Amino acid sequence: MDGQIRVQPCLRPHRTPITGQPVASPHQFPLDGRGWYFPVRRRWRSWASVPCCAAWAVRVTLRLGSYRRRGRRRTCCKGLASMGLEDLSVVMGENVSKDVWSALRRGISPFSVSLPQKQLAALRALDSDMESLLREDAVDSLTVMESEAEAQGAQKTLKYLLRLHDGLAVESVLIPLKSSPVKTATTVCISSQVGCAQGCRFCRTGDMGLLRNLSSEEILAQVVQGRRIARELNLPEVRKVVFMGMGDPLANIQSVRTAVAALSDSFRMAIGRKRLQVSTVAPTPAQVMQMAGMRCGVVWSLHAANDALRAKLVPTAKHTIRDLRNAFMELLKAGGGVTPDRRLLVAVVMIAGVNDDEEHARELADFLRPMYAHPDVGIALNLIPYNPNPGQEEFCTSDYRTMLRFREVVNEELPLLGIHLRRTRGAAGSAACGQLATPKKTSARLCKE
Ligand code: SF4
Repeated sequence: MDGQIRVQPCLRPHRTPITGQPVASPHQFPLDGRGWYFPVRRRWRSWASVPCCAAWAVRVTLRLGSYRRRGRRRTCCKGLASMGLEDLSVVMGENVSKDVWSALRRGISPFSVSLPQKQLAALRALDSDMESLLREDAVDSLTVMESEAEAQGAQKTLKYLLRLHDGLAVESVLIPLKSSPVKTATTVCISSQVGCAQGCRFCRTGDMGLLRNLSSEEILAQVVQGRRIARELNLPEVRKVVFMGMGDPLANIQSVRTAVAALSDSFRMAIGRKRLQVSTVAPTPAQVMQMAGMRCGVVWSLHAANDALRAKLVPTAKHTIRDLRNAFMELLKAGGGVTPDRRLLVAVVMIAGVNDDEEHARELADFLRPMYAHPDVGIALNLIPYNPNPGQEEFCTSDYRTMLRFREVVNEELPLLGIHLRRTRGAAGSAACGQLATPKKTSARLCKE
């Protein structure tokens, strides 16, 4: 049978699946506690007396069969993104497991490297959706354009589109950066949902509405494809990943958590946790707290420091910014205080005449003061020029002088606060912040044909 797994002696510590307590004598339970946690069904309980590895292997084999029969639906089976090196080693052997993750790290599809036939079949059975996501024709390069002025001294921003198995598509962006003559790296900006339910008034993705959440494999595939494209175009290596594309990551926290674990793991995608950022409007305080334990930086898209104005910009905002601020402070304190990756980055999209005058700057400084003054909470501020979109004629980008003055006023109040005035990249090709959107299902299918 395809996907059959060789049973090896199990030397790992064993724990009960429910309580996680170590078991005195191994081979009593059908599951171990290392992350291989298939839901225990009533009909499996009789397996409790069978040696655990044998039971586990047979169950995986059966599950792979049913997985294939169900026509590639992955709801019941873990995919590659959820599998650590050790987990995959159990299925494929340690060396092959290392090869698979090493290929993904370099932006190569592991389905295209020469693996032993059996392992290749097992890999396909485990995650055949991933195979189609990693194929070269799953990606369309949409835009490589920036205006000449923008492109001077920097390589061009590239927007690409990943086609999903159901005819939908998501956009991601490669942003090569040159911080010094010798220091170059590419940042990949990825999406967590197709569309977005938050409906921010200045964002094109918000205009789309939410079509669906992405799976962790679909999130991971964007990074792998980004690395492949960067290598083929001789761009600097992809070293930074930001969840600032389509969707709010907290609205799809399970997939994002799994993807972040795979990206930050040094044995898998090996993105440094300081170079991994998750950006959110923070729908609720409870959702903010769900980020506890994730190995990444956090960006809060605040946009305005008073509730009335924020509700106009982010119409789905239901909680006061004070409640959300308290949740972020709790989150940072729970993470063990200030470390580079536990610093909160507060983002404000600067819109002319809406949120960019001196009064707004003072209001923002007052709002940030409790976090600024707290010894265990680190913050920084990011000012992002608004990027124009069709249908949003009421908004204009703040001019550079206004943004400089805004920064000065905040710095007068909070002298040690790091404030970064972000330069727009990719606006000419609609690849900048708030400009990502894809056609709906039917038109995406037509494009494909
Ligand atoms: S800015 Fe972010 S959260 Fe708001 S609609 Fe756009 S993608 Fe969603």
